[in-house]
Amino acid sequence: MIRVTRDHVIYAFSKEDKPAAFAEPGQCVEFETYDCYQGVMLREGSSFGDFDRRFGNPATGPLYVRGAMPGDTLKIEIQKLEVGPVGILDIGGSSGALKEAFAGREPVIKRLCVRDGVIDYEGIAVAAKPMIGVIGVAPAGEPVGTLTPMNHGGNMDCTRIEEGAVLYLPVSVQGALLSVGDFHAIMGEGEVANCGVEIEGRTVLKVDVLRQTGISWPMVENGERWIAIACGDTLDDAAHKAVEQMFWFLCQKMGLSEVDAGMLLDMAGDLMICQIVNPQKTVRMEVPKWLVHSMQEKGRKGQ
Ligand code: CA
Ligand code: CA
Repeated sequence: MIRVTRDHVIYAFSKEDKPAAFAEPGQCVEFETYDCYQGVMLREGSSFGDFDRRFGNPATGPLYVRGAMPGDTLKIEIQKLEVGPVGILDIGGSSGALKEAFAGREPVIKRLCVRDGVIDYEGIAVAAKPMIGVIGVAPAGEPVGTLTPMNHGGNMDCTRIEEGAVLYLPVSVQGALLSVGDFHAIMGEGEVANCGVEIEGRTVLKVDVLRQTGISWPMVENGERWIAIACGDTLDDAAHKAVEQMFWFLCQKMGLSEVDAGMLLDMAGDLMICQIVNPQKTVRMEVPKWLVHSMQEKGRKGQ
């Protein structure tokens, strides 16, 4: 299998980056990642004073996928997602929805053991739900830092990007230039107080190239759900985009009438907050596949 080690990390998604590895469509690639503090905070007694923020949120890559061209869609199957033995949880007054509550206090950092799918929070066992925080391709224009999510993917912090899921990203540059990092052993929806259980890990991704899907934002297929991910300056902005994106997908790609698509969203579309702490907010719209298929079937019968 092709391997991309964490000797190759980026701090911005850029079309200028030299590929760390090359893959053919249909190949599986293993990526080895750092946690968002590049391992610095794993040292017992280390503090934010030891951490140079220029090296925050490293993503491993980029991987050049042969044949991927602007306008294509990169299909990424997350075949395996494993996290390391220790995760970092921290809280403080510098960011997040609790920054006023923690203003003026020293940040608190906890190092939590993760073993056999269980996180040990001071004797309390919390079942891990590993996810990928950062996964993206190079944008067409200026580089985008790995802290920011946009239509190229990036720091989406979406809990549905987990083992078994399939992510679709719009390709903007030749080779796509895929990078991945910022795993969480678990993260609450919204990532409200700044982080999840930040952790290093490994993932095996099967990459493929789809032609002319017309989808210019990230989408996820997770079990019985289709999910559209949207980014915006505000939650309102991101929420509206997520709804519009899914509406477009249901009408243009799934062939539903506008009325059926809108009513499907009314009945069973779940608007969910991914995160509220990054430079752009991310929101997702989820719909159940069975209802999409039933609506398609109804349309075919001309009802
Ligand atoms: Ca993140
Ligand atoms: Ca993170």
